[in-house]
Amino acid sequence: MRVLAIEDDALNRRVVRDMLSVAGVAMDEAASAETGLAMIDADDFDVVLMDLRMPGMDGLEAIDRIRARGDAKDNLPIVVITADAAVDLRSRCLAHGADELLLKPVAMEELFDAIGRVVAARGGRAGLVV
Ligand SMILES: [Mg+2]
Repeated sequence: MRVLAIEDDALNRRVVRDMLSVAGVAMDEAASAETGLAMIDADDFDVVLMDLRMPGMDGLEAIDRIRARGDAKDNLPIVVITADAAVDLRSRCLAHGADELLLKPVAMEELFDAIGRVVAARGGRAGLVV
């Protein structure tokens, strides 16, 4: 399982990295959407964890670009992780092509469940085993 976290906040990246390490999963990380998209170009990931609010390109635009690739990677499972609890945000994220939305702070079980669900839903490899 290869996880890419696209998140501008270093502490938030570390929190997720620590949770994934419990399951023995190493996390690749990008501090901007631009960097994250370049990493997706260059590498194969099983799931992307996407922040929404980032300097430069925001998460929704990054999701749009992934879904518009026109190759096999446009099917990448994407879990949005955000502190923004706006009422319509879930439906907006899903409309942009996100598979799941989690609110910060994310609990470990919630994260693993979401990753397992979205990866399975898009026909990827089996979920995390803790
Ligand atoms: Mg952010």
